[in-house]
Amino acid sequence: MAKFTQDEIDKINSKLKTPEDTLRWAYSTFGDKIAKASSFGLEDSVVTDMIIKINPKARFFTLDTGRLNQETYDVMDEIGKKYNIKLEVIFPDTNEVQQMVRTHGLNLFYESVENRKLCCETRKVNPLNKILSTLDAWITGLRRDQNENRSKSAMVEIDTLHGGIIKINPIIDWTWDQVLDYVKKHKVPYNKLFDRGYTSIGCEPCTRAIKQGENLRAGRWWWENEKHKECGLHMDHSK
Ligand code: SF4
Repeated sequence: MAKFTQDEIDKINSKLKTPEDTLRWAYSTFGDKIAKASSFGLEDSVVTDMIIKINPKARFFTLDTGRLNQETYDVMDEIGKKYNIKLEVIFPDTNEVQQMVRTHGLNLFYESVENRKLCCETRKVNPLNKILSTLDAWITGLRRDQNENRSKSAMVEIDTLHGGIIKINPIIDWTWDQVLDYVKKHKVPYNKLFDRGYTSIGCEPCTRAIKQGENLRAGRWWWENEKHKECGLHMDHSK
């Protein structure tokens, strides 16, 4: 696996000006040891469209938690067909899910932050760790203004949470309006939940449409305090 120092990553970031530059650098550096993670939000649709134009054979994976909306499965199929993608669908470990449900019930996430984090860990974080352990780099659709936790992210960064592999965030400095413009201009297939006010896509029981004036991620775990609102996929606990 290609290892980078923070100085090298800083230099790379200073040279990469556009999402497309970043993706070209990523594929020439990591070959088939890099994959795009997708939860099928609008940002993921945008980055997927960009990737396919640069590398039609790129790898894509998604975490099927078992609690997704039908609309999310629909857009998975639509994007798969449009771009000829063989999506790698990663499932949680059956025994882990059974144990959790037997102990805490099916709707444990509503009972406490601790239970919600356990569910995210079982259904998302552990499966993600498993696939990332086979990769040298991964690509996300994160944007800096989504929340405080993402505000310090860079286009290319060392993912200390996942063994020091490289995390590529091509549209990290994009605004929500840029995302909307790209989807419209390039006729990118998108999750139809968006038309019903869902600006961030997660699991069905834990995501709702946002109300006017709310933060774009306000619909995720809406019953919780703002500071708890990450599932652990992008949290660097060392910071
Ligand atoms: S978002 Fe909700 S249902 Fe999905 S893994 Fe997290 S707690 Fe479980």
